[in-house]
Amino acid sequence: MIDDRPAASGQRSSSRLRSYRAEAVVLKRHDFGEADRIVVLFTRQRGKLRAVAKGVRRTTSRLAGHLELFTRVELQMARGRELDIVTQAEIRDSFRGLREDLTRTSHAYFVAELADVLTEEQAEQPEVFDLLTATFGALETALDPRLVVDHYQIKLLDLVGFRPSLSTCLLCREELRPGMNAFSPFLGGALCPRCGPGEASARPISSDVLKVLRHLQRSGLPGTVRLRLSEALAREVGRTLRELSERHTECHLRSPDLIARLRDADTRL
Ligand SMILES: [Zn+2]
Repeated sequence: MIDDRPAASGQRSSSRLRSYRAEAVVLKRHDFGEADRIVVLFTRQRGKLRAVAKGVRRTTSRLAGHLELFTRVELQMARGRELDIVTQAEIRDSFRGLREDLTRTSHAYFVAELADVLTEEQAEQPEVFDLLTATFGALETALDPRLVVDHYQIKLLDLVGFRPSLSTCLLCREELRPGMNAFSPFLGGALCPRCGPGEASARPISSDVLKVLRHLQRSGLPGTVRLRLSEALAREVGRTLRELSERHTECHLRSPDLIARLRDADTRL
């Protein structure tokens, strides 16, 4: 179960641990070579990391079925030259509810995609790991999966250092009052009615959207899942958070399109 290849030249084998245990959530995976799979993991001990599961696609593999998407696993890992290698995997929580319903599955994809694009590799962030597992747990049963993902998104932005400013104007620092304020994903928060019009990246934001965002920012999951939002408000809150995440990652998030397609297909039935 340990990597028994010789250490790279010039490196004393005693200077690095060759194998380690990790508690992880599987964020992403893709086939590699004939029977291997690359997995993107978020671990409690080392943050996000990419690893290879060798031979996992063979039916005889002891890893087969233990590295499914969104599962929480206990892993034995070996150091590899480029990628670390998963040598053992044991499921701790399969979050089965996420796979039994397409809406929940698509939201779980979004949660995993955000963790993947918003975090750095090999940066220890146990709070992100705890947030991820709590979010997957809540998504299994939540009446409105969107709220769980909204909550997760605003907390994750906070944990990775992009906490949006929602109570005071980003430019003049004055406290925001109810009314027509503005919002700039580019600057990372809200602007007062005096500063908003002069900022090219800002658009109007309603008091209700700001109120919900503030509530999500300060509440835990239980307080979040009790919220009931109108369809229009829920969409606007989701759009605002997505803009913030996309601004920070400078990439187009793919899962929200999947969620929208599923929702539209649903309403046509
Ligand atoms: Zn201002």
